[in-house]
Amino acid sequence: RAKKDGRNSFRFFEAGMDAELQERKAMERDLRVAIQNNELEMYYQPLIETHGRAMQGVEALVRWNRPGFGMVPPGDFIPLAEETGLIIPLGDWILRTSCRQATEWPNLFVAVNLSPTQFKQQDLIGLVKQVLHDTGLTPNRLELEITEGVLLEQTAYSLMTLRGLQELGVRIAMDDFGTGYSSLSYLQMFAFDKIKLDQSFVQELGKSSGATSIVRTVLDLGRSLGMVTTAEGVETASQRDYLTQQGCNQMQGYLFSRPVPAAEIKNLLLRTYPDVDVPVAKALSS
Ligand code: C2E
Ligand code: MG
Ligand code: MG
Ligand code: MG
Repeated sequence: RAKKDGRNSFRFFEAGMDAELQERKAMERDLRVAIQNNELEMYYQPLIETHGRAMQGVEALVRWNRPGFGMVPPGDFIPLAEETGLIIPLGDWILRTSCRQATEWPNLFVAVNLSPTQFKQQDLIGLVKQVLHDTGLTPNRLELEITEGVLLEQTAYSLMTLRGLQELGVRIAMDDFGTGYSSLSYLQMFAFDKIKLDQSFVQELGKSSGATSIVRTVLDLGRSLGMVTTAEGVETASQRDYLTQQGCNQMQGYLFSRPVPAAEIKNLLLRTYPDVDVPVAKALSS
């Protein structure tokens, strides 16, 4: 019987495997419904300009409150969305929602993450152009974050797409810098507007001399290539101080603020930022 039905009758005799597969199927089904029913929500995390200590922009981070399960981290459902193709409608929704909400914060830019499949989708440039037009967001207030993995294949195509996006006036940030292949020639070839140093390096600051030198070197490199540098995952005052000293342009992390719902951004904007020695997190929560 197994032979006759071919691939379709392939059975997982191991109970664990079966449960895992079923859970994936259930999650895929729920995610499809969530996209249709608007059950997803964008959260925004402030990006703080190092010197003025002011909020300069926000990163848009998707949240899914899955009925019966609670908050599912994006690291759990973005990969599934990638594998199932759901990332295309999901990514479209994320981009539109982020651009629309950003029009309510006239002095801020919004940084939106693009996954590899989204980056390779047909006419990404056309989509971005359309969304900017529909929402009325000025192109220089949109930043798109991509990871190195996106660029590994189809270099010529990637180069064309990046240039096309930059020609619209949108900025491109290299996300999680240092965790992938990080070929130096890539940095030169792709002419990113910004590099975001991955939080794994920031969190090793002061703990390992290796990480500390890497941070310094990446910041120097970014500066010498004329790119804005951002550090993510800044949690302590000493990390902030070291990064400030090394000339990092922007910082993002729990020290300043966790990602918050859109409605809270206005409150964060109303606050005055404290002097250099006062931890900003304290001022924000007081
Ligand atoms: P990412 O783009 O590198 O985003 C930064 C992640 O670090 C976020 O996790 C953020 O909440 C977290 N983070 C920020 N500050 C701190 C800190 O001080 N300490 C620590 N430990 N973590 C901090 P999140 O929101 O869980 O997102 C994880 C990843 O999921 C993102 O990494 C991004 O790759 C992906 N992702 C999130 N939202 C989207 C989206 O809308 N579209 C796509 N394609 N990917 C997304
Ligand atoms: Mg990001
Ligand atoms: Mg990142
Ligand atoms: Mg990261």
